[in-house]
Amino acid sequence: MSHPTIKDGWFREESSQWPGQAMSIKVAKVLHTEKSKFQDVLVFQSETYGNVLVLDGVIQCTERDEFSYQEMIAHIPLNAHPNPKRVLVIGGGDGGVVREVLKHESVDHVDLVDIDEAVPRVSKTYLPHMAALLNDNRCSVHIADGFAYLQDPKLEKYDVIITDSSDPVGPASALFQPPYFQLLHNALNPGGHISTQSECLWLHLPFIKSIQDSVKKIFEVAEYAFTTIPTYPSGQIGFVIAKKAGGPPRDVKAPLRTVPGCRYYNNNVHKAAFVLPEFGRVLIEEG
Ligand code: SAM
Repeated sequence: MSHPTIKDGWFREESSQWPGQAMSIKVAKVLHTEKSKFQDVLVFQSETYGNVLVLDGVIQCTERDEFSYQEMIAHIPLNAHPNPKRVLVIGGGDGGVVREVLKHESVDHVDLVDIDEAVPRVSKTYLPHMAALLNDNRCSVHIADGFAYLQDPKLEKYDVIITDSSDPVGPASALFQPPYFQLLHNALNPGGHISTQSECLWLHLPFIKSIQDSVKKIFEVAEYAFTTIPTYPSGQIGFVIAKKAGGPPRDVKAPLRTVPGCRYYNNNVHKAAFVLPEFGRVLIEEG
């Protein structure tokens, strides 16, 4: 099997979203290629990062470092909430975020909405450690556009909504716009939290600022937190964490419990994730 992103045994991630740079990973074996209804899907076994899922030429996760992203995008909003019971994940068809959500004993149901059935299907085969809990009886998988799913007037409200989307090109572009943030707000219980994939400080600072400003207009609180991860562009990615008004005052930067079975997240990492380097802080907090 061959793929246009693989040459001389190396996968190369080129994109106009990160001009002049490209992550390369040494390929051991191509495991799967297909054109799904929505995107180009590639899975390969790498020499040093385990199996790697790539959509439209962009790395989505590798077995070696995925935990740093999944744990942080999930545990920050969940562990700052006093009693999260109903959780929604938009995107995240690889199942990694669902695996983390279900570490919280209070959670009795998680809905996962991914636009592309190919992602959970190939993840169950090639990323079983991530996808295993997609079959859990507390989880329902819906194959649908996240934006359309949230427009259903009969939707039951959630305590936490996590947007684990691909980058803002292609099917995920609507998930970075104000109308989507308003739909998230409408779908939350009072005092509910969101966490939404919000790109990289080194590459997308004005974009992060625009996401945070849009979210701030709708939610009571909106803060940027980040994690480090070698295989995302420039090794860093963040999330806007927001709280809907309601209930007793609460600090999203303050963890409330200890989450078991983590390899990246702990309570000090939760607090530290909101501390920004000066070049980012100046623009995001004061700009
Ligand atoms: N953490 C990854 C990253 O930042 O590269 C994202 C992982 S996850 C696999 C992204 C998922 O979002 C994909 O499975 C894709 O199918 C899904 N997705 C993209 N647009 C979507 C939409 N409009 N509604 C629901 N899911 C969407």
